[in-house]
Amino acid sequence: MASKVFVITGPSGVGKGTLIRELLKEVPDLELSVSATTRSPRQGETDGRDYHFLTPEEFERRKEEGDFLEFATYSGNRYGTLRSEVERRLAAGHSVVLEIEVQGAQQVRAAELESVQIFIAPPGPTVLRERLAGRGTDSAEAIDERLKVAEQELAAQGDFDHCVVNDEVSRAATELIGIVRSELGRAPAGR
Ligand code: 5GP
Repeated sequence: MASKVFVITGPSGVGKGTLIRELLKEVPDLELSVSATTRSPRQGETDGRDYHFLTPEEFERRKEEGDFLEFATYSGNRYGTLRSEVERRLAAGHSVVLEIEVQGAQQVRAAELESVQIFIAPPGPTVLRERLAGRGTDSAEAIDERLKVAEQELAAQGDFDHCVVNDEVSRAATELIGIVRSELGRAPAGR
């Protein structure tokens, strides 16, 4: 089975993390790329597992060195996918999931790397605010900022190969798993 790169994008609060956890449990040989970020760790987050937490200076240095496959600024912080994270996994025969925002997804599309692009959408306009508030990890200001970005992200969902509406976690997870399994069973384009 050919290794593939899956880009999974969706607005903050849509439940990407939960769906991706379900996906990784169900599909063996699929691994999550650990991104780099300049934002501070949230409670319970571990360096190297949830993110590679970098200072803004370290992030810039790695950017200058060409270490990032893609990078973006989101809510005032830098986020980026390290080439090494993806290349190492592909070389070991694994498929890779990138959980990134829309600007990064666009950069991956523009790069030489072939990817399957999946957008996770909320079932309605009020759900994101409720979920972000319920998560309790962001201030009211940060939530407003994330919702502003979410509007732009929702406008870009037509650029993706697949869209999964997270109306109900187990249903949406089943749909996502189905998409990934069917893409993994398919030969890479151009062969
Ligand atoms: P959070 O601060 O909630 O962990 O992430 C904020 C946003 O940044 C989310 O939409 C998440 O998918 C995105 N993100 C996480 N890692 C990366 C990355 O490596 N590149 C890009 N472009 N976005 C990322």
